[in-house]
Amino acid sequence: MSSSPPPAYSPSVDPRAVAGGLGALEQSLLEALPLIVWVSAPDGRLIYCNRRGYEFTGTGASGAPEGSGPAKFLHAEAAARVLAEWRAHLDAGEPWEFEVRLLRAADGAFVWHQARYFPVRDPDGTIVSWLGTAIDIDDVRRAREERGLQTAVIESSDDAIVTKTLDGIVTSWNRGAELLFGYRADEIVGHSITLLMLPEDRDEFDAIMLRLRRGERIDHFETRRRRKDGRIIDISLTISPVRNTVGRLIAASSIKRDITEQRRLDALLRASEARFRVMADAMPQLVWTSDSEGHSTYCNRRWHEYAGIAPETEFTSEHWRTLIHPDDAERVTATWREAIRLGQEFTLEYRLRRLPDGLYRRHLGRAVHVSDAEGHFVLWVGTATDIDDQKRAEDVLRSLAEALEERVSDRTRTLQDAVAELNAFTHTVSHDLRAPLRGMQGFAEALGEDHGDALGVEGLAQVARIVASAQHMDALISDLLELSQISQQDLHRGPINLSHVARAVLTDLRRSIEERGVQVDIEIPPDAPSVLGQGTTVFQVLHNLVANAIKFVPPERAPHVRIRSEEREPFVRVWVEDNGIGIAREYHESIFGIFVRLHRSEDFPGTGVGLAIVLKAVQRMGGHVGVESTPGLGSRFWFELPKA
Ligand code: ADP
Repeated sequence: MSSSPPPAYSPSVDPRAVAGGLGALEQSLLEALPLIVWVSAPDGRLIYCNRRGYEFTGTGASGAPEGSGPAKFLHAEAAARVLAEWRAHLDAGEPWEFEVRLLRAADGAFVWHQARYFPVRDPDGTIVSWLGTAIDIDDVRRAREERGLQTAVIESSDDAIVTKTLDGIVTSWNRGAELLFGYRADEIVGHSITLLMLPEDRDEFDAIMLRLRRGERIDHFETRRRRKDGRIIDISLTISPVRNTVGRLIAASSIKRDITEQRRLDALLRASEARFRVMADAMPQLVWTSDSEGHSTYCNRRWHEYAGIAPETEFTSEHWRTLIHPDDAERVTATWREAIRLGQEFTLEYRLRRLPDGLYRRHLGRAVHVSDAEGHFVLWVGTATDIDDQKRAEDVLRSLAEALEERVSDRTRTLQDAVAELNAFTHTVSHDLRAPLRGMQGFAEALGEDHGDALGVEGLAQVARIVASAQHMDALISDLLELSQISQQDLHRGPINLSHVARAVLTDLRRSIEERGVQVDIEIPPDAPSVLGQGTTVFQVLHNLVANAIKFVPPERAPHVRIRSEEREPFVRVWVEDNGIGIAREYHESIFGIFVRLHRSEDFPGTGVGLAIVLKAVQRMGGHVGVESTPGLGSRFWFELPKA
């Protein structure tokens, strides 16, 4: 706001006195003028205003209230600027022309005025007063603004907007038209619009012109045009007739839009939708799509069949809801609602009623949230797969498996009981057998000793046979007990040093080694890897093999035994090699059976249980056994155990 006090209309000043210099004619002219006229003193104070001014500002003939000034008639947005400029012109004594919005008292509207304000000077140039005029230009301005807006809209439109005469001569051509057809405005204005048409479409042009002349409007007419570069494009055309103020048809204005891409996309979309439907209809599953709120938009043929709905009847979400098993309904609805809220896919099992027979069948429902490349939601695609048969089969299988398991554990229990009984029996029998055996042996020996003379040589020989038989039977019983123990005992496996075991075996067999003058070579390096096994059992295995290697050598031959180890991942193999009688190929496997012996006891004593113990013991420790042999030259027995 200006620092000086706003000019007030002072009722003490008689405007007629101020304008007294004017003749009556001029005065009444001023009063009658349809524009606001006012006079102010050199300092800007208002001293006269014509009737139009009073009426417009509503101040009445009595003038403005004390203290009011032009500010109260100005639009708030511009008041400060206008007053400052006014003050500046007053100070500079320069005429001023401006546009301003003034408050019309009658309706409170601000009305655009064009104002002039210029100094009136006396002959020597001194300013004696200022004369102001303000003409209402509201309509002019509005028209100007509208035209400006229209031009801006036309120019900024991506659509081609073209006007032409009724003969088809182009009269205006916007930027959109330049982009769409490739012609600049100056290249086409004044030329016929047929420049854009294909010769074979001339009929179309004539038909359009005919309709326009009849005053018809043509809406979204799809056709084609040729661009300046020769390319043919699909367009959508809207043409309106243009009339002059008296309603005579003078021109046509058209809006053209390139729909080539849209047509291509439409075709693609249609093809993709068709493919989807063909695929979905061919599927044995129930397939559906829905919008973002979960309203069904499509259901495949199988759905209609399942729900017993005619193919042409629209399948709604309501249909679906009535088919869900009442016990599942709440869970399904809650899951679906949550999935919609979060836009997250879900998988869910629920029962659906098959309408043709009214049976509920178990289904696996899945729904996937489909988005476009920009991540905008497109649709939900869902499937429901009938898993009822599968579930039923699973149930049957499960109950079969359970029954089987029960039977197996029953059998196992029975077997365990039988084995326990057998063990107890073996134990008792062997101990019970041993006592009379010992008795037999003792009495036979006593008989020999006490009645040797009476028995004679032949009698003593018979007694010796009785003793030997009793001893053999005793050995048999111990071996059987050992075998039964090996099969039954709980194993405690740990890392076993083979070199140590081999030495312990040799110490144990020291007597027979010395008696037969056996040469023994141990080729187990001290750093050879340990095996995983039970110490006493590994000892037993090696003991049996080495004892055999010494035993099965012809009496005239000095036995030579070689014990060596060899790594065979993930095992360590131990070889026991001899220079004995060897074993024919066909017995290589059977000799590991119980009581299998290839010789008479007279030639090579034994029970036929030793190798059976070896096989059982090694198997229980997770290993294998075998033999390689050439009859007459020797045998190479081996066993292997897991590396520790
Ligand atoms: P036993 O030694 O008490 O006869 P084994 O079970 O240890 O019983 O052996 C079974 C049979 O395998 C033996 O009777 C013998 O015929 C044969 N056999 C075992 N080891 C050898 C060996 N090192 N050389 C030749 N034959 C063997």
